[in-house]
Amino acid sequence: MRNYEDTYRHKGLRKKLMDILRDKGITDETVLAAMNNIPRHFFLDSAFDEIAYENRSFPISEGQTISHPYTVAYQTQLLQIKPYDKILEIGTGSIYQATVLAEMGAKIFTIERHKLLFEKTKEFIFKSKYPNLKFFYGDGFEGLPTYAPFDKVIITAAAPIIPPRLVEQLKVGGIMVIPVDEGEQQRMLRITKNEDGSTSEEAFEQFSFVPMLTGRNG
Ligand code: SAH
Repeated sequence: MRNYEDTYRHKGLRKKLMDILRDKGITDETVLAAMNNIPRHFFLDSAFDEIAYENRSFPISEGQTISHPYTVAYQTQLLQIKPYDKILEIGTGSIYQATVLAEMGAKIFTIERHKLLFEKTKEFIFKSKYPNLKFFYGDGFEGLPTYAPFDKVIITAAAPIIPPRLVEQLKVGGIMVIPVDEGEQQRMLRITKNEDGSTSEEAFEQFSFVPMLTGRNG
């Protein structure tokens, strides 16, 4: 069950959450404005309605999670989104991250390997609001060669390695934001593709994601 009512109370809680994200160091106001416009509780079971605006992750289904708001803000900020950017997301999950990117005016191609989670995207409440958001069922390690190249690539699961196919599908000057395994936690990396096809790497904070798994499920 979902509660698709966005009350003053929800809006107030959301505003407070944006202040928490600012206090934690998120400075890109375009990211915060997009997150403030999206009712996060629409992406969760109504059992979580009251706590949807706490800075924490929640179970969705199939053992998967919706990322912490801080993690969503952090990855989105690192992506330096411009309107009309063409973005590949690995790990659709609850669709929350993809919706934030769509709200910022980017064109999103998001892949989910879990059949049941992919099936749920057919009931996405904002389908008509975001024609710039497209869903795919597949293995994120393969990317979407048919739609490549992309301006940006975002991986929202713990990657064991930087998937070479995804680097191939990035434009020159393009950016990939990817949490890479370091045992229990993952280091957030920003990869930039250079003119000669090589990549530059910047390392940021550590996070904790569900694993990026190979192959499709279901
Ligand atoms: N972006 C999501 C985060 C979901 S958690 C959100 O905003 O809610 C990570 C998701 O990545 C899970 O749904 C998991 O099934 C998916 N995933 C893991 N490995 C994958 C792969 N190789 N290809 C595509 N999706 C994958």
